[in-house]
Amino acid sequence: MSKIALFPGSFDPFTKGHENIINRALPLFDLIIIAIGRNSSKGSFFSLEKRLAMIRHLYRDESKVKVDHFDGLTVDYCKKAGAKYILRGLRTSSDFEYERAIAQTNRKMDPEIESVFLLTTPELTPINSTIVREIIRHGGDYSLFLPDGINPDDF
Ligand code: ADP
Repeated sequence: MSKIALFPGSFDPFTKGHENIINRALPLFDLIIIAIGRNSSKGSFFSLEKRLAMIRHLYRDESKVKVDHFDGLTVDYCKKAGAKYILRGLRTSSDFEYERAIAQTNRKMDPEIESVFLLTTPELTPINSTIVREIIRHGGDYSLFLPDGINPDDF
């Protein structure tokens, strides 16, 4: 049976931190689905289409990565996609508290789904999408934080 993991997030935008989690998780799974969850309470900076296009371009030659989006509960999407694992990255202790609540709730809803966490690579710890959005908004050099070759203006 193939090991399918879901990497859910807003990815607004997808950063070097996210890329690092994917690259390190690839040897662990047969397929990773990067899925943009549409958060009902949060508007987005980049449109869904642009975020999908940027991530699809980045993994265009990686057959073990699929890119999708979903509305609703992560566990429901997992069931639909046949994913038994939810992949998340941990940067700080506040990430841990937040992720623990989500993972324990998800497990209560579907005990067959395991959440798997990778610790961030130390130098990527400060990268978060909120700060990157501010840098882009104010015309700063965001290329330090986005995956190599990814320029939002191209999509
Ligand atoms: P969400 O809105 O669901 O938190 P994000 O797009 O912010 O979505 O993040 C998706 C996942 O990537 C989360 O597990 C988050 O902790 C992780 N992540 C974000 N930035 C980094 C980083 N720099 N290093 C490692 N993991 C990260």
